[in-house]
Amino acid sequence: MKKVNYRMKCSFCNRKSVYFRRNEGHHYCDRHFTRNIEKRVKRTLGKYKLIKKGDRVAIALSGGKDSSNTVFLLNKIFKNNPHVELFAISVDEGIRGYRNQALKNAKKFCKQLGLEHHVFSFKKEFGITVDQLAKKMESGFCGSCGVLKRYLLNRKARELKATKLATGHNLDDEAQTILMNVLKGDLLRFARLGPAPRLADHPKFVTRIKPLIMIPEAESKLYAILNKIPAYFDKCHYSFDDPLRGRTRDFLNGLEKSSPGIKYSLLKSAYRITPFIKAKFKTGKIGNCKKCGEPTSQDICKVCSILESIS
Ligand code: SF4
Ligand code: ZN
Repeated sequence: MKKVNYRMKCSFCNRKSVYFRRNEGHHYCDRHFTRNIEKRVKRTLGKYKLIKKGDRVAIALSGGKDSSNTVFLLNKIFKNNPHVELFAISVDEGIRGYRNQALKNAKKFCKQLGLEHHVFSFKKEFGITVDQLAKKMESGFCGSCGVLKRYLLNRKARELKATKLATGHNLDDEAQTILMNVLKGDLLRFARLGPAPRLADHPKFVTRIKPLIMIPEAESKLYAILNKIPAYFDKCHYSFDDPLRGRTRDFLNGLEKSSPGIKYSLLKSAYRITPFIKAKFKTGKIGNCKKCGEPTSQDICKVCSILESIS
């Protein structure tokens, strides 16, 4: 995060600046910063028509800053809207000393907001925790955790009659994913990009939405602090298992320093070419997993394969 000279004034009022947005050249005080974030999230919701009348939105709440901000912001925007229902859904992966604390905060937070909240655990749903998975696999367990989590969120959101599944992905997450897909030659994954990615046409997929996609990581962090959102800031101790993401993050942060706004440009470019990639590389037919019945392009879905490989 850029260090702020506290003698500087907000560009919009006389209060002291708490943030300088380099790609705009504007200083923001706490109030104008909060207002601006909310305005930009509303703009993303409106521009991409992420939530409409009659939607029941499941918000994936890990207890970290981005998902907690998503809960807070959507609740603020829609709490008096009788045509939109919100609820939170959390996954307990079974990571000692990390997720239990984050989930404690999440539960308290939803109670404060009066929001319906559901928690599902890997242990109960898959019979294994990520701590146990890490002992069984030499590497790749972080990726497997991600696969299991996306599967569970989609299935539970659908069972709870959600029409949308909102996640806390921010600008940095999206920019890193774009670059990593290019570096790995995995262009098909471009289908997962965008504020409302359409994974594939299958009635069992709940439409994903990413309301914070235009908010940089540092701004999401500051928003949580300024608004006293009870987010858990520690990192999962298994995140080292994905070194490419760490390097990509450092590389993009370095570029952003010398060329402010470059992460936005990367998103813009990727979204322009995504329709061509989708048209050129059609995803295979999506059917149902022979074991669990969830959508997959293979006979057996990834989750069932992971569980089989470690049993
Ligand atoms: Fe799971 Fe990896 Fe996230 Fe940890 S960092 S919660 S292991 S996906
Ligand atoms: Zn399956």
